[in-house]
Amino acid sequence: MSEGQSLLAILALLYVSDCIWWLPRQALLLTGMRTGRWRFKSCGTMLGRQQGAPAMLPLLPLPRLTMLQAQPWDIAFSASSISANSSLSWNTQGRRAQKGTTVNLGDDTAPIRSAGDTIKIGDSTWHTCTTPAHADAVATLLSAIQSAAPQERADVIASAWKAHIDVDAARTRLTEVRRAALTPQIFGVLQCVAMFVVAPLAASRFGIAFTIIPLGLLILSCVVINAIVYGIAHRRLHPEDKSHRRSHTAVILLSWPMAARAADNVMRHACHAFHPIAIALATESRDLAQSLGDQLLRDLHHPTAMNEIPEDARDTVETHNRNHVTYILAVMTAHKLDPDRWKVAPEGAAEDLAYCPRCLSQYTRPSGDCSDCPGVALTSKPTGTA
Ligand SMILES: [Zn+2]
Repeated sequence: MSEGQSLLAILALLYVSDCIWWLPRQALLLTGMRTGRWRFKSCGTMLGRQQGAPAMLPLLPLPRLTMLQAQPWDIAFSASSISANSSLSWNTQGRRAQKGTTVNLGDDTAPIRSAGDTIKIGDSTWHTCTTPAHADAVATLLSAIQSAAPQERADVIASAWKAHIDVDAARTRLTEVRRAALTPQIFGVLQCVAMFVVAPLAASRFGIAFTIIPLGLLILSCVVINAIVYGIAHRRLHPEDKSHRRSHTAVILLSWPMAARAADNVMRHACHAFHPIAIALATESRDLAQSLGDQLLRDLHHPTAMNEIPEDARDTVETHNRNHVTYILAVMTAHKLDPDRWKVAPEGAAEDLAYCPRCLSQYTRPSGDCSDCPGVALTSKPTGTA
């Protein structure tokens, strides 16, 4: 391999490494153009750990391609208690490790606040969120439940759920995100062209020795422009998150190929306040919203391994799941999606006698637990569907 080829391979490797997001188990990667045909991915099955796994982004940095990390709340709350546990899981690789505590919201409970990306109760760390803005939003909500009079807490919780699934607000936010990300996306494409088209062509035509300095200067100027437009776009969407903006700018300036993907970093957590189904409906992706709703309703009605959730947390988690079901059904009904499709038994071969009501895998045995979803009992197939 020549020097020029080695250099190109290093640039490409660094570039590809920035096209991978580490997704927590409870989160989804949503990708799509302006409207219609959005896709979702849960974290991958390879290289995963109990808290999450990598997910691959589209390699081409198309302008107007929006990429978001979205998740429903990964904690549980009710009028009387809050729990850092959650039964939520999007796939069959299980959910994040349950090691949080459950706290009763009595008069003697210490105040709830955020510090960086963590939520603290008194001086102890209670839960870690994806970003400081996310931690701040969750801490503000939990603190509002805590400080409300017991008879008013149900209203606080209802307003929080309504805001979480507010499709109009999600649409407004998505428009802001797309507008803010467009400039870094365009300059990202220009940098890709400079790195992967202009540089190899010029180096092969005139030789690496003659072109390395002008090409280096060309790519460096793209990087500096990308760092500037990244900073402007990030400040528009995340004005409060200065520390992340500074550290990512430093990373971009050191690892040049990553500057071409700076727009992803601007978009990634910009819709953290919204439930994935609200985002799907805001993009008019009705098929996506329906399948997210079906999958969630199956998971919430048949959660895996509830016995792994600490005993003192189960009431809170079950109450939270009931609220989750109520508001998912409300948003699905309001947008004329089918609220009962999740109940439909899968079609299969005549020898399949039962299916898993959570993942829809089919079994030739009539009963027992699903081998992929711990603790979920199989449902017998109604006669006539096989
Ligand atoms: Zn299953």
